[in-house]
Amino acid sequence: MAKRKKTYFFNRDWEEEFFFTEVKDKCVCLICGSTVAIPKRHNVERHYTTAHPSFHTNFPAGSALRVEKTRELKAALVKQQSFFTRPGEKVQKGNRSLVQSSKLSDKKTKERSLTEMS
Ligand SMILES: [Zn+2]
Repeated sequence: MAKRKKTYFFNRDWEEEFFFTEVKDKCVCLICGSTVAIPKRHNVERHYTTAHPSFHTNFPAGSALRVEKTRELKAALVKQQSFFTRPGEKVQKGNRSLVQSSKLSDKKTKERSLTEMS
């Protein structure tokens, strides 16, 4: 039975609604730069309401102030783009586990050859 992977897509509306934007297929918070692993409305909304509750009061939805702030934050983010070009963490984690497992099998081989010698 094949597993079906559900793909989520960033919604442009979230930019004004939750101060989130899309950078290199990642959903990024314009306020603090955090990324949301799965771009689901629920995840984005939760981050916005829990991490930045003051923004909801200071920049009411649909206000010109909010539109202006979104634009300002987005411009600042574009300047920091280089921050997002580092290699993905997933790749590094994968390499590390490979090294660990090869070390483990080395140890087993050594132990076995020692037993065989004695
Ligand atoms: Zn944030």
